[in-house]
Amino acid sequence: ETEDSKEKLCKMIELMDGFKASKVLFTASKLRVFDVLRSSKTGELQAEDVAQEIKASMKGTERLLEACVSLGLLQRTGKQYANTAMSRHFLLSDGPLSLQGYIQHCNELVWPLFTHLETAVREGTNQHEKAFGKTSNNLFQDAYYSRHEVKLRFMKAMHSIARVSGRDVATAFDLSKYKTACDLGGCTGAMAYEFAKAHPGLSVTMFDLPKVIEMSGHFRPHDADDRVSFVAGDFFKDELPKADVYILARILHDWSDEKVHILLSKIAKACSPGCAVLVSEIFLDEDRKGPSRGLLQALSMTEGRQRSASEYSLLLKSHGFTAAQVKHTHNLLDAILCVTE
Ligand code: SAM
Repeated sequence: ETEDSKEKLCKMIELMDGFKASKVLFTASKLRVFDVLRSSKTGELQAEDVAQEIKASMKGTERLLEACVSLGLLQRTGKQYANTAMSRHFLLSDGPLSLQGYIQHCNELVWPLFTHLETAVREGTNQHEKAFGKTSNNLFQDAYYSRHEVKLRFMKAMHSIARVSGRDVATAFDLSKYKTACDLGGCTGAMAYEFAKAHPGLSVTMFDLPKVIEMSGHFRPHDADDRVSFVAGDFFKDELPKADVYILARILHDWSDEKVHILLSKIAKACSPGCAVLVSEIFLDEDRKGPSRGLLQALSMTEGRQRSASEYSLLLKSHGFTAAQVKHTHNLLDAILCVTE
């Protein structure tokens, strides 16, 4: 009984303090603490050297570093602080699996939205206007892409998640019988390059809004594969590129069922028999009791919603796509492959 209640208390404390831990991660990342430690000759620094490098107070820096140690983000031997394996893996700005872009997005965009959660719940709306003082019906075109630095930050966030989860999504199914793919709303192309890498016989067209496509050079990998090409357009209005497989990675959750139907019917029209649609999202459990990652994300959504694999397959079925396989990747994104008869 006492063990059990202690466990419950620990869980409560963890929940009450969760926002502080998140903000410690965001702040250490923004102040480039992990990069500064990595760049030092020995990979270790004392608090006062870190303070000097990040141009912050000694007192504040020491508190931040100590909090990071307690969260497993840093380690300390004597007076020397160093990165842990986890921070080396995910928190260096130029690492292949860097989550920096997504962390900055959480800090600058999602955090302000969540400070208005109570109003969001009362009104059933996203609090973008309250947090950023802008009215917008189209989040992408008007809110995310109207200012260059906001667009770049959003794209870096998408890029980091796509790089961490892309390989698992790209290898989730045997796509060897397909020659061409179109990644609709492919953003920086990170996912498209993963598909090209995983499938030597596949050419991938990356389709996104013109303001996104104009940035593709910025995100081009050093060893860019020339089987990936870029096409600008609006997937609700413009003709879609022809392809054997249409990839929708983190697209459908942004839209209402009504908009999803518009998009899927356009894809169905562009498809010939044997074509496939690959949807990658966080799949909710069928009873909608988890994963909390997906349900927490839903709280700051505008017109979209989180769905389970069977909800996605039902939407696809109404456009003639039959669910062939579902893959829970145990990475950030799951995937479902549907085929036309
Ligand atoms: N698929 C990428 C991934 O998984 O990393 C990016 C997902 S991001 C949440 C949604 C993408 O859809 C953005 O790149 C956005 O520019 C694109 N998008 C939104 N509306 C669009 C439209 N009407 N036509 C084409 N692309 C659109």
